[in-house]
Amino acid sequence: MKIAIWGMKEWEQEYVKGALSKGASDSEIVFYDGILNPDTLPPKNDFDIISVFVDSTVNKATLDHFPNLKGVVTRSTGYDHVDVKECAARNIVASSVPSYGENTVAEFAFALILALSRKVYAAVDNFRETGKYSFEGLMGFDLKGKTIGVIGTGRIGKYAIKIAKGFDMKIVAYDAFPNEAMSQELGFSYMPFEEVLKVSDVVTIHVPFLPETEHMFNEKTLPLMKKGSILINTSRGAVIKTEALVAALDSGQLAGAGLDVIEEEGVLKDEMGFVLHGTPEGHNLKTMIANHVLSDMPNVLLTPHAAFNTKEALIRILDTSIEDIQGIVNGSPVNVIKVKN
Ligand code: NAD
Repeated sequence: MKIAIWGMKEWEQEYVKGALSKGASDSEIVFYDGILNPDTLPPKNDFDIISVFVDSTVNKATLDHFPNLKGVVTRSTGYDHVDVKECAARNIVASSVPSYGENTVAEFAFALILALSRKVYAAVDNFRETGKYSFEGLMGFDLKGKTIGVIGTGRIGKYAIKIAKGFDMKIVAYDAFPNEAMSQELGFSYMPFEEVLKVSDVVTIHVPFLPETEHMFNEKTLPLMKKGSILINTSRGAVIKTEALVAALDSGQLAGAGLDVIEEEGVLKDEMGFVLHGTPEGHNLKTMIANHVLSDMPNVLLTPHAAFNTKEALIRILDTSIEDIQGIVNGSPVNVIKVKN
């Protein structure tokens, strides 16, 4: 089998080579730096399996380039960057990592919450920039007693609820498929989406990107949020309509936002490449400008899709992806993404 893997650090490459040399010894593995998308297709195209991360785009044009393809292994939980329907139509197995770090991402959501509630970034930056050792202008707010609204109570949302309990927060939640047993067990209540927005001091988003969740936070719903509340997004950028978020922050409806994911984040990774070689089709240039407006706002923290990035989570991701590659090589794939019609 010929396997191509994009975007792995050297230590990850060694780890994968070591593991695959046991389970799939006659495989040829090629590692590529960066991302895979229709603009970065390699000249070599006879691979049986490709493995990518969320910053790649595996769409029809990408798939067309690899006529022998049998498997697409994404080293992520979310798989909206892979056209899974097209894979299924071509008998290509698509697999993802169903779970590698519900604690990892939930911990990062709380890192963003605390950084905003206690103005941690401003405190560090102020001292570094001005040399002034002063807490002037850095008054924050307690989490204890505040209400947190958890949007999406799956694996990561559930862990966020557990952490919120440790902070003595009141917890409310919205999910399209409420888990009543879990709400009893962990002591929180489900409410309609709009109600959660109205009562929460902090809202943290943990839904997948789906047609139903695209721009769930928009010019109609963002103004429903409690005045002065903060919004945290570690799920997928397009769950929030960026321009509407800029407006909600600008008007003071929201006091802050912690965003690990944003629309058009792929372009942000390589703006020079986009300016020199990219085409505007399929991209929203206004959103790209809005991202820069957001990054200049002092009450906004933008992080580069980094919530997954701990040593422990990376090892779990690698182990699952190796299992997925071996499964495809052996004809018994695991963690296959179910295609919804
Ligand atoms: P999960 O599937 O366990 O949970 C998702 C929850 O969302 C489920 O409870 C589901 O019922 C709910 N849901 C689905 N559609 C909904 C809708 N229309 N409205 C409301 N709720 C809906 O997923 P998870 O493991 O908790 O991960 C959540 C998301 O986090 C992933 O899909 C991924 O996009 C994102 N993620 C981000 C990072 C990062 O590094 N920033 C890392 C891992 C995952």
